[in-house]
Amino acid sequence: MHSRVVIIGSGPAAHTAAVYLARAELKPVLYEGMLANGIAAGGQLTTTTDVENYPGFPKGIMGQELMDAMREQSIRFGTEIITQTVAKLDLSARPFKYWLEWAEDAAPHTADAIVLATGASAKRLHLPGEETYWQAGISACAVCDGAVPIFRNKPLVVIGGGDSAAEEALFLTKYGSKVTVLVRKGKLRASTIMTKRLLNHPKVEVLFHTRAVEAKGGKLLEKLIIEDVRDGEQRELEANGLFYAIGHEPATALVKGQLDVDEDGYVITVPGTAETSVRGVFAAGDVQDKRYRQAITSAGSGCMAALECERLLAEEEESETDAKPIMVEVKKESNGVAPEYKSNPLV
Ligand code: FAD
Ligand code: NAP
Repeated sequence: MHSRVVIIGSGPAAHTAAVYLARAELKPVLYEGMLANGIAAGGQLTTTTDVENYPGFPKGIMGQELMDAMREQSIRFGTEIITQTVAKLDLSARPFKYWLEWAEDAAPHTADAIVLATGASAKRLHLPGEETYWQAGISACAVCDGAVPIFRNKPLVVIGGGDSAAEEALFLTKYGSKVTVLVRKGKLRASTIMTKRLLNHPKVEVLFHTRAVEAKGGKLLEKLIIEDVRDGEQRELEANGLFYAIGHEPATALVKGQLDVDEDGYVITVPGTAETSVRGVFAAGDVQDKRYRQAITSAGSGCMAALECERLLAEEEESETDAKPIMVEVKKESNGVAPEYKSNPLV
């Protein structure tokens, strides 16, 4: 199969790109994945409950419902959605080639342009008790989940020592009674300004050389067993909320060695655009954003990717048309001599 443009992914970035590309009559084909990267089609929002910060839903909306609506909107304008995972990409020449999972020996499909919107996943610690309390006290996104009632005026814990941990802990001080930050080493990795803010906040306590070893509670999380890594001494810490801020992993296995990525593996885009290091490949959403990682920023970058892709394909089509000698018949001979043509005068 050959397509003008293929979108890989199924979160807000992919579906926003699909809506724009379909409305531009480019007949996009969107591969939504089949548990690609361990996440259901629809992306990270399918793993959460209420989304309260996506504009247009004053009462909030369930993550799954929001993604179902985005999918429906993509289809409405003519996007072809295929529930398969793209297993391999070859970006060395255009048209780009790609292969699907379980069909890697088959002939490749091709596309003139690609929007990469494969997202990212928050790293987790996989503590004993984590599965039980995931989204019942444990989360990997304070900005997303911090405001829910179960965390109001309750002791909360953040794990991590980078800028994300500092930012999330400071954000949580608005809701929790106290925020304890567990840092496995003797120092923070966060920037100086964030470190200062964190250490000076009256509601924050930073416990260095400390790790969590187990999550416990009833129906919801209530406490953690924590350990001093220097002497192995363990104790209980009250915690109605536990937020991981130990980094994210962008889903870039497909483009490894083919697109420029930064030191943390995020796809590098030309600032202010969705252009990657390969012409015709655009990246949108969390796969290229280690800073904001929100549904709305992903959707915004999906729009940018689609508009840039549309423009590139239109420019290329135009220059191809211009370059091709369009034969215009100027004189017809009736004496058996071949007719005379001249090239497109605009070339
Ligand atoms: P993602 O949502 O990451 O989705 C990418 C999709 O691409 C996945 O479904 C994946 O399976 C698929 N995929 C990956 N590789 C392939 C492949 N090779 N072939 C085909 N498909 C592939 N943000 C907010 O703004 N508000 C919130 O309230 C909020 N709550 C959150 C709660 C949780 C628990 C989490 C984890 C995140 C939350 N976020 C929230 C963040 C938000 O979900 C992300 O920023 C957003 O979903 C990123 O969108 P994306 O389009 O980059 O892709
Ligand atoms: P990060 O800088 O990689 O920090 C991750 C933190 O998690 C580190 O303190 C690390 O500890 C800890 N960690 C990792 N694995 C762990 C484990 N298994 N157990 C316990 N702790 C663990 O990640 P980030 O904070 O998400 O930041 C990513 C990038 O985005 C950085 O470049 C950051 O500056 C940037 N960012 C900037 C801002 C801002 O400017 N406001 C906000 C957010 C993010 P060690 O230090 O011991 O390795």
